[in-house]
Amino acid sequence: AAAGEKREHLYKVLVIGDLGVGKTSVIKRYVHQFFSQHYRATIGVDFALKVINWDADTLIRLQLWDIAGQERFGNMTRVYYKEAVGAFIVFDVTRVSTFEAVAKWKHDLDSKVQLPNGTAIPAVLLANKCDQTKEGLVNNSSQMDEYCKDKGFINWFETSAKDNINIDEAARFLVTSILAND
Ligand code: GDP
Ligand code: MG
Repeated sequence: AAAGEKREHLYKVLVIGDLGVGKTSVIKRYVHQFFSQHYRATIGVDFALKVINWDADTLIRLQLWDIAGQERFGNMTRVYYKEAVGAFIVFDVTRVSTFEAVAKWKHDLDSKVQLPNGTAIPAVLLANKCDQTKEGLVNNSSQMDEYCKDKGFINWFETSAKDNINIDEAARFLVTSILAND
């Protein structure tokens, strides 16, 4: 690129997982540096745009797709997944049922969207609300590493939207992988 000219990328990233795990909170924290106990669960799909000055010649627009109201079905339509290049799957470390749902979400994702070359889109697992636990439900990190390998996640992070823990790190990891695929 010419001097002063930046390469721009627009990436669609999905945020999925069971109701109440903190999907909306993670997005608000990441995009608006803000946390609230109360988000209205509007029905439908919401978008948030995070602009990242990745490096001297790369600008990234991350379009984060949030869902509301449809989580209880445990799957989404192909249209929703269409052209996504990355995903966060979120669970709540205080509710084991939301972790059990992760495999189902990952399967739904992989069955409905692939990269142009046919491989799975990069997905990062977020063990959210880590501020709520002393030990953490995730007290065995090598077991989580194994789980991620088995289920095809590129990595996992313990996060807190409330205390702003690891959200930037998780996003950076996902974007690095997205760029490598592009
Ligand atoms: P969603 O249904 O997955 O979008 O979940 P929300 O973002 O609406 O969050 C559900 C509830 O969990 C809300 O009361 C949030 O304030 C709370 N919450 C979300 N993230 C965290 C977190 O990291 N820590 C704690 N303690 N509460 C959280
Ligand atoms: Mg929500």
